[in-house]
Amino acid sequence: MDLGLRGKRAIVCAASRGLGKGCALALAREGVDVVITGRNVESLEAAAAEIRAAAPDVAVTPVAGDITTEEGRAAALAACPEPDILVNNAGGPPPGDFRDWGREDWFGAVNANMFTPIELIRSTVDGMMDRDFGRIVNITSSAVKAPIGILGLSNGARSGLTGFVAGLSRETVARGVTINNILPGPFDTDRLASNIKATAAKSGRDIAAETEARRNGLPAKRFGTPEEFGALCAFVCSPLAGYITGQNLLIDGGAYPGTF
Ligand code: NAP
Repeated sequence: MDLGLRGKRAIVCAASRGLGKGCALALAREGVDVVITGRNVESLEAAAAEIRAAAPDVAVTPVAGDITTEEGRAAALAACPEPDILVNNAGGPPPGDFRDWGREDWFGAVNANMFTPIELIRSTVDGMMDRDFGRIVNITSSAVKAPIGILGLSNGARSGLTGFVAGLSRETVARGVTINNILPGPFDTDRLASNIKATAAKSGRDIAAETEARRNGLPAKRFGTPEEFGALCAFVCSPLAGYITGQNLLIDGGAYPGTF
């Protein structure tokens, strides 16, 4: 299936590993020039090389920096001032107990997982509307739909972004710009491994046993792959998905137990 994305330009934030890289790879394979960001230069360069090998006919531009800072965002935008596609992503906040979190912890989570995507939307959405095409995808979490106990910072900060997007996405769609959130359940990435480690530390189980228990508790009996996540992202970013906006698209192998 040709998604009709060839020649488009994308900024994919936090894309040197995990779900962001899955999105960048899927878009590049569809012919999209991608700017990818990440803080660690070595893993960012490695990701760029991997994407170039998979999609030799597109431009892959790594931009090192912290996307939760003004400088990091300015560098990404300088490398791609008129993106057709923006994939917002950043590391998730740490797990813990809300009794231990103060202002710095909460402001850090809100900065990374609410304010940063909103700032990048602010910098790009009007240009997209002027050009009659734009796709904005925010990587959030299944925790927005079904909160995860130890991830209170994530549950809270991401819900703020979700509420904001629900409003704005209705204002942009008539001008060809959709804004959606993709909500990952458990995907096989470094982030999942560190969350399982935290749960294991809390429960006293060893990490292998905790991982197995987690996997076995899923309807799919496995974790999702970044490739599966990227495929959904690429479709949502395509012209074929122009009638999908303001949605929270859960991708979790059936883990959320509700009918709707
Ligand atoms: P991951 O495997 O840990 O990868 C995170 C990526 O983001 C890395 O490339 C990392 O590179 C980059 N990054 C982190 N903070 C950054 C920053 N401030 N500026 C620029 N780049 C940054 O995580 P993931 O599993 O792909 O998760 C992506 C998002 O989905 C996270 O917000 C996570 O909480 C959420 N999520 C994941 C799952 C899951 O099961 N995997 C489930 C629900 C929600 P550097 O460290 O080099 O910067």
